[in-house]
Amino acid sequence: MKLAIVIFRNNLRVEDNPSLYYASKSNDRVLGLYSFEILQGHLFGFKKCGKFREAFVKSSLEQLYKDLKAYGINLCFTNDFSNTLAKLSDKFDISVYFDEEVGSEEEHLQRVFAKYKHKSYFNQTMIEPFEFDFTKSFSHFRNKAEKLEIPKPLGLPNKVKTVEFESEQFSKAMISYPNDAIFFEAGEHRAKQRLEDYMNNIHSYKDTRNAMSGFDNSTKFSPYLSAGNISARMIYHRLKEEERRGYQSQSSYWIYFELLWRDFFHLVMLYSKNRLFLKSGLKGKNFNFRNDKESLDKFFSANTGIDIIDASIIELKSSGWLSNRNRQLVASYFVKNLGLDWRVCAAFFESYLVDYNPASNYGNFAYQAHVGNDKTYRVFDPIKQSRTYGGDNYIKTWLDKRSTSFIDYHKMSQEVKKEVFNEA
Ligand code: FAD
Repeated sequence: MKLAIVIFRNNLRVEDNPSLYYASKSNDRVLGLYSFEILQGHLFGFKKCGKFREAFVKSSLEQLYKDLKAYGINLCFTNDFSNTLAKLSDKFDISVYFDEEVGSEEEHLQRVFAKYKHKSYFNQTMIEPFEFDFTKSFSHFRNKAEKLEIPKPLGLPNKVKTVEFESEQFSKAMISYPNDAIFFEAGEHRAKQRLEDYMNNIHSYKDTRNAMSGFDNSTKFSPYLSAGNISARMIYHRLKEEERRGYQSQSSYWIYFELLWRDFFHLVMLYSKNRLFLKSGLKGKNFNFRNDKESLDKFFSANTGIDIIDASIIELKSSGWLSNRNRQLVASYFVKNLGLDWRVCAAFFESYLVDYNPASNYGNFAYQAHVGNDKTYRVFDPIKQSRTYGGDNYIKTWLDKRSTSFIDYHKMSQEVKKEVFNEA
């Protein structure tokens, strides 16, 4: 019997899902398959997928399971794609349909899927992949990318038949969040709801996006995009529809602009053959990053003495969330003030962020660590930034008392620039 297997990884949705769409259009029987192995593993002592993302993914899976049923499709759970595909191919004449992802582990799994008759699709970005010099800056990419048309999202799959096959049970992670935490309800329905809700805010986005706290100050699309509860193309075309109905503003354009950064890092990771995971990054530069246990311990236990940094670390560890501004400050402080190996902090973010994805995380970190697509050496002044972007209230939310120690962070950054980065 012929059977199409649709692989689910970070494409946990029914709409605009090419592997599901095409499998259901050209096959009578379809089975979905998800493996928990993609949530496992450790890096620099951190669990790769911490409790916040695990909870988000599992909740998305529960909803996907029900949604696929409406199309007649069973979703099976395993802990080992390779083993389960081998069992399925013993029993059925299988064709595997999968979404191509970027990242070394992601590509390794793709080689497992490609052992079988297969079809694969790249749906991670708004734009279709195109060749550009991945070592150059975002502006170089943007000049070309902005001229490209963005394909329309695919619709919904066909109703088909399925088969019964063994499936693992899974338990949901229960988490309690602090009162002020930003918390996300997962799944395709919530993602679409968030998109609709945010249409009211698209003309104020540019003025509010840098705030350190507050749910509606930025789109909060990132967890949904990372788990694939929604596609970037669905967001883009909804935005365009809203602009046609009303007007286009600098602000509504800026959401597209930020989504283009996401596309950029995904395509840099794709074309650079995973050099973004290397300490020397895209540039192949061997800087003298420090490995100072005391600094690391103080940093990860939120004891740096710089309130805005400590508050950010506490927010991240207790909620899985951090605004873009705070991510920049924390990454900059770790690398450009403490001079530590940027990959360790990237692994820390990978573990805690509810919206982690390899391209955005490692792309942004490499940028901050001067080994990515950055053009100039730039250090954030944490105190000045805190004053500009509402840090006082933010610090009150996350810290019981303010630090009284004097930290000469200017001197620290000058020493790091010279000793670690060999720059005068
Ligand atoms: P908005 O400001 O509303 O932006 C809209 C969308 O544009 C976002 O959902 C996101 O998909 C995209 N976007 C915005 N800023 C960036 C950016 N700098 N790089 C890439 N895409 C962007 N984002 C992740 O999704 N996963 C990560 O693991 C991740 N790690 C990061 C690590 C560091 C050190 C830094 C500085 C940034 C990181 N980002 C990451 C990017 C950015 O901080 C988040 O995408 C953003 O804060 C999510 O909030 P939002 O959805 O409200 O974004």
